[in-house]
Parts: sequence; structure tokens; C-alpha cells
Amino acid sequence: MSIQFKTITEIKKLLRENKISHVELIQETLDLINQLSDLNCFITTNDEYALRKAKDLDLSKSNTSISGIPIAHKDLFCTQGTLTTCGSKMLSNFTPPYDATVVSNLENADVINVGKTNMDEFAMGSTTETSFYKPAHNPWKKDYIPGGSSGGSAIAVAAGIVPAATGTDTGGSIRQPAALCGVTGIKPTYGRVSRWGMVAFASSLDQAGPICRTAEDCALILDKMAGFDEKDTTSLDIKAPKFSSKVNAPLGKKTIGIVKEFMTDDVPKDVATTFENSIQTLESIGCKIKTISLPNIIYSVPTYYVIAPAECSSNLSRYDGIKFGHRSKNAQDLESLYINSRTEGFGDEVKRRILIGTYVLSSGYYDAYYKKAQQVRRLIKEDFEKAFKKVDLIMTPTSPSEAFKIGSKGQNDPTQLYLEDLYTISSNLAGLPALSMPHGEINGLPIGLQLIGDYLDEETILNVANIFQKNTDFHNKKPSLEEWL
Ligand code: GLN
Repeated sequence: MSIQFKTITEIKKLLRENKISHVELIQETLDLINQLSDLNCFITTNDEYALRKAKDLDLSKSNTSISGIPIAHKDLFCTQGTLTTCGSKMLSNFTPPYDATVVSNLENADVINVGKTNMDEFAMGSTTETSFYKPAHNPWKKDYIPGGSSGGSAIAVAAGIVPAATGTDTGGSIRQPAALCGVTGIKPTYGRVSRWGMVAFASSLDQAGPICRTAEDCALILDKMAGFDEKDTTSLDIKAPKFSSKVNAPLGKKTIGIVKEFMTDDVPKDVATTFENSIQTLESIGCKIKTISLPNIIYSVPTYYVIAPAECSSNLSRYDGIKFGHRSKNAQDLESLYINSRTEGFGDEVKRRILIGTYVLSSGYYDAYYKKAQQVRRLIKEDFEKAFKKVDLIMTPTSPSEAFKIGSKGQNDPTQLYLEDLYTISSNLAGLPALSMPHGEINGLPIGLQLIGDYLDEETILNVANIFQKNTDFHNKKPSLEEWL
């Protein structure tokens, strides 16, 4: 019996009924990784460890809601004893001595970590093209981007290799690849999931979350990922709810906002029509739709592209060739060691961000750029606060278009790619939870619907998404994968 494309719930049933052993499950997962290696969605696999853990689980009585489930981690979560590259040459030799809290929380729930997934270098990008380990491919169409930066994780789930993978989202990197690969992913409220042991990009925006085939499965993973962590100073000291217990609750009367500022003629016709169809679906399951205004949302992209590079320039200053990471062999003194290690270790996009970030933080420019961006960020947050007095959720498309060909966008002007984040970035700036799920396709490629929730209200998002999925079939669609075998 093949486990490819099965959900967590389906795999758990097979395990419970002894239709498959943990070892068989993991062996098939590892075989799939090998057969589909041209997708380039894994950087490292944990064959030996995964099979050993599966053997142990076959003998043990462990039975958490997700025990035995094969999972893949984005390669920026520190994994003790396993290479953690962050998609960069800089960390291509880095094997952490500890697990990230997300990893250990899931280990404690007895999932089986089968490997580490490909990603944009240091999570900077929206296509998984900037990886030092070469671009990853969209399973729906050869030579198309999977979205990014958590592209490898979204591919691994979309190709049915694993039912769940972790991702991180600083400006859309869980939701956007989930959308472009036709799977479901949620970025929780900032602080809900520990950032400890995640390689930092922009600390006030980074947040980890799951990518799965369904909202129901996302809830099962989030149950174990979330929670206060004293090792992360920005972790919220609040007990996380059991997300899975409310996903199937009756919807009741929910009001969903659509954003006036996003309803422009610039939205491509196919994206707009698919969005209209989803409005109708949500109405048919009892939701009320209301137009709202978020006047400052149009400034989200420029605001983010000041704040994120500023934080990145600070966070990445730790890579100096001394303590860990790439060390240049061509250094004569300390200064040339710093310069050459960073010049050789970082790719172009990372260097671009460090330069922008250093510039906007420098004296003389700080007030004009960084301080101004923080003020606009506050206004965007306040717009959301006002909106959530009137609606329970906000819906938008996840990205402005379907996936495109590798190498076809942003070659001469990288800011073209920054516009891919138009719909996703504002929830990071405001710290709000947001999910993407498939709701249609354009030219045979999936596109996503985004649901943004109020602060700490992942439960309403997951509930509405799950009921939407119970009434539609988009999440059940599978890529043929013929081109890859
Ligand atoms: N595309 C955005 C960027 O390049 C967001 C990336 C992310 O969420 N990690 O910064």
C-alpha cells in the first residue's frame, strides 16, 4: 500500500490498524525522496536515524496524535548532529550541537525527521532560486519555481513525499510556496512558536509554522510546535490552545473582510475570478463577506524591505569566519579574513540585503528610512486592529500570480520579485496569524487563498479553512509527477 499523498490522519489510521509498520512507512518515504531527487527539495536526508527511530517506534507503545509521522524540516532549524546549511555556502559545514525548540518539541511527540529541505539562502527570496544548493522545482511543472523561501518543504508535501514539513515565514515564506505548490501552510501569531534554534533572518518578523496537505493536519502539527519557550525572549508566555480540537467545530456566523485597497484592476483576471469563486464558496458555508479598508497596507512592501534588511544586516554580522561557518583560505590578517569569508560565503541576494540594511541603519539615514518604516509599521498594525473590530477574518489572494519559470523574473531588477510578497507581508509586520490553502489553478498551476486572523486567533483561521476544505476539492489535487520519474 502506497503512503504517497496521504494525510497525517490517513497515515495514523494505517499505523493504528497495523496495515503498515513504521519501518515500512519510513522506507517508502526514503525511496520517494530518492525517486524524486530531481525536484531538489532536500539538502540532507537522515536515512539511518529515521529508520532507527521507526524501528524503535515499531517496538514501543508511543502513540501521540502525530507519532511515527515522517516530517521534513526547513534547513534553517538547527538539528543536533545533522548539517544545517540555511541554503548557504556560509553554513555548508555547520552541524549544530543542539536542536531548535521546534525540532525538539516535535521529536518529543515522536515524529520522524527524514531530512532537511532546500530553501532560499538565509530565507531571503520568494522562489527558492537563491539556494547555494541550486533551485528547487515545482512538482506541477518542470523548470517552474515552487515559491519560497520554504520551497523545499512545500514541494516535499505537494509531491506526497511527507505529509508535513516545517517552514518559516518572515514575509510570506510559508504561505507563498504553499500557494504555488497547492498545499496548506500557516504562519502563526508572532511569538506563538519558539524561534530558538532557528537561524535568524529578521528577528521581529520570523515565525515558524507547518506546511501540510490540509488545515486539519496543520492543526495537529501546530498543537505540538507551539507554546512558551523561556529560551526565546520574544516567545509569548501564554498557554497555546489545542488547535486540533476546534478545527471541526460548526462555523457559526463568521464575517470575512475583503480589502478595498487590493481590489484593483492590477489583479490578473484569473486570480480575480478564482477569488470571486471562493467568496461564493465561503458565503455558501454561512460566512458573511464585508469590504474593509486597510489604508496603509499599500506601504507594506517598501516598509518590509527597509526593516527586514536592517535586521538581517545585524543578524548576519555574526558570520565572520571565526566561530563557525565558512572561513576563507585566502586571508593574511583579521580584516581580510572577515572580508574574504563573507565575500566567498554569501550569495548576491544576501549581500544586497546586508548592504541595504547597513545603509538604512547608518547615522544620517536612520531617521529617514528605518525610523520612518517603524512608524508606518505601527500604522499598518493599527489598521488591522480597527478592521478586526468589524470582521473575524480577512481574505486575500496569497500571491499575485501562479508559479513562473525559473530564471524568468527579477534577473535585472530584484525588486520585481519583492512584489511577489504584496499580499503576505502585512501580517508579518503586524504579527498576525495567516494561512494559505489551494483554491484553484491557472494554466495547470495551483494558486492560493490567504486567510488572515486576529492576534492569537489561529483557531478561527484553521476552523474556516477546514470547513472550506470539507466543501471543496482543491486540496485533494495531485501533481502527476511523470516528468520527474
Ligand atoms: N520574500 C520575502 C523576502 O525575500 C520573504 C521571505 C521570508 O518570508 N523568509 O524577504
